Formats: sequence, structure tokens, C-alpha cells
Amino acid sequence: MIAILKPGATEEQISHLSQWLQRMNLKVHLSEGQDVTVMSLIGDTSRVDMELLGSLDIVERVQRVSEPYKQANRKFHPRDSIIDCGGVRIGGGYFAMIAGPCSIETEEQIIGVAQAVKESGADILRGGAFKPRTSPYAFQGLGADGLKLLLKAKEATGMPIVTELMNINHLDLFADVDVIQIGARNMQNFDLLKEIGRTNKPILLKRGLANSLQELLMSAEYIMSEGNENVILCERGIRTFETATRNTLDLSAVSQLHEMTHLPVVVDPSHATGKSALVPSMACAAVACGADGIMIEVHNNPAKALCDGAQSLTPAQFDTVSRRVHKIREAVR
Ligand code: PEP
Ligand code: MN
Repeated sequence: MIAILKPGATEEQISHLSQWLQRMNLKVHLSEGQDVTVMSLIGDTSRVDMELLGSLDIVERVQRVSEPYKQANRKFHPRDSIIDCGGVRIGGGYFAMIAGPCSIETEEQIIGVAQAVKESGADILRGGAFKPRTSPYAFQGLGADGLKLLLKAKEATGMPIVTELMNINHLDLFADVDVIQIGARNMQNFDLLKEIGRTNKPILLKRGLANSLQELLMSAEYIMSEGNENVILCERGIRTFETATRNTLDLSAVSQLHEMTHLPVVVDPSHATGKSALVPSMACAAVACGADGIMIEVHNNPAKALCDGAQSLTPAQFDTVSRRVHKIREAVR
């Protein structure tokens, strides 16, 4: 349930109202926008007398929110959320380019790629240390050693870093990681979501291979309901009957999510297509339709990559995409 407050409501009146509602065991969340202030009530609102609440001096109107996602809902928070990722902002007009290899392989590789993508305008460095692989016989990532190398690349370039957390027991290793990625395969690992919800780290939450947008938002809700509101959503392609591409990039998700939620939406054209040749055009399309960021896999030698080489761009190809992306952003702004 939300109560839209009148513009003249004083802090004292708002605080009285909020205390009264909290006494009914409700969580009260205030979102102050330029034109309206929205008071969101989370919990069992069946005991709230909507008519009484709506008749109060400072209340403009009261509305029930039927969607099961509450804190992620744009109705609760009309303004776009801006998430600070180690000094780089995403959302609400701030756009970020995330680039780097699928997996961290060697010190030379990660630092080399980091320097190259930074030079080409990337804002955040990506690289997997703990890799969710379909086959147990495939390269599983360098684990803790990989994280150390990623931190070296962060130090060498000054770029914030994003990397995937698969197991909550590894959380201590992520102390200096700027953004925690929750991969598509763990989008509905609810225990993991609850645990990272108790941290204050920005979370890049990737859409599951076969999950609806509402399910994605319910997963964001798991994180937010534990107190962590720093969630960035990522569209990375979904499973369809099409086999020509690795997944099917659902670009309408960007606009649809922007209607449903205030959280930023990033597009990953690399995992969505699985083909380096398709990444540039899909990156441009994502920017054109209003994505708040893009994430692209870049490898110094894609043919020799230990993971996802077929969809990885070379640093030179990334440089070209980056220029095009910036031009498109200017055009659609
Ligand atoms: C990745 O980012 O390397 C990755 C494994 O992505 P996804 O979870 O989207 O498959
Ligand atoms: Mn990958």
C-alpha cells in the first residue's frame, strides 16, 4: 500500500504518521521525489483503514499495490534509483560500460585487458573468479587466486570491479569487490539473495535463463527486503526455441522493467548472443532503447579463452563498439 502525501506535509507530521503505522507492525519507507512524497507500507496492510488514512490532512490519496514486488516497484519509488558502484554511478541518467574477460586467467591477461578497456572508455572491470559452468569438467575459474588478480587489476587501473559470488561462504573474500554479481543460474538461490541483502554492496542481478521479469523483480525484492537497496538488474538473454543464438536477447525487457521498477537495467549482449559478431549491434540496440549500462566480454586472445571465447571481443573490437555506443547515447539522450 502507498500513501501519496500532500506537498505541504511537514517532517513532524510525516514522522507522526509513520510512527502510527509502524505500531501496526508495518515497515514504512519514504521516497521523496521532486513533486511527490510517497510513503510505502510493507507488511500486512489488511488492518490499515484506507479511508481513515486517506482522510488525514497530509495525505493526498491511498493506493493498494497489487504487484507482489514492493520495494522494487516504481509505485513505491517513482524516481529512478542511482546506484554508486565504487564511484561509478548507474541509473537515473548515469550510464556505465562494464567490460572485461569472462574469466580471470593470468595476471598479464586481466591487467592487460583492464588497461585496454579503460583506455577505450569502460567504467567498470568485470572478470569471473568463481565460474558457474555447465560441465564439471570445464575450467571452473581460479577462485580465490583469481580474485587476488582482479584486485591487482583494480589497483593498477583504479577501476571498480564486478565479479560473481556463487557461494555465501566466499563472501569474506569479496570485501574489496565493488559490485557482486549474482549469475543467471543463481537468480533464484533465495538463501544467497537473503545473505547478500544483509550487505550494503551493489548487486548486479542477472535474469535467469527462463525467468519472467516479475520473477526477476521478486529476486531483487529478496535482496531489498533484507535492507540492501543497491540492486542493478541485468538482461542477458533468455532460453527460447531459437538455436542460432546462444540465448534470445529480450530488449523489450529494458523498457518494460523501466515501467515496473526504479532499479537500473544493464544489458549483456555477450551472453545473450554467444557470438562476438552480434555483440556490437546488440550493444548499440541496448543503448538505443534506454539501457542504463552494458556489459561486454573482452579477451586479449578470444580464440584461446578458457571460457566464452566465441562471444568475446578483442580490445580493438571493444574500442570500436565503445565509440559507437557513445555516439548513440548522445543521439538518444
Ligand atoms: C558471466 O557473466 O560470465 C556469466 C556466467 O553470466 P550468466 O550468469 O548471465 O550466464
Ligand atoms: Mn561468460
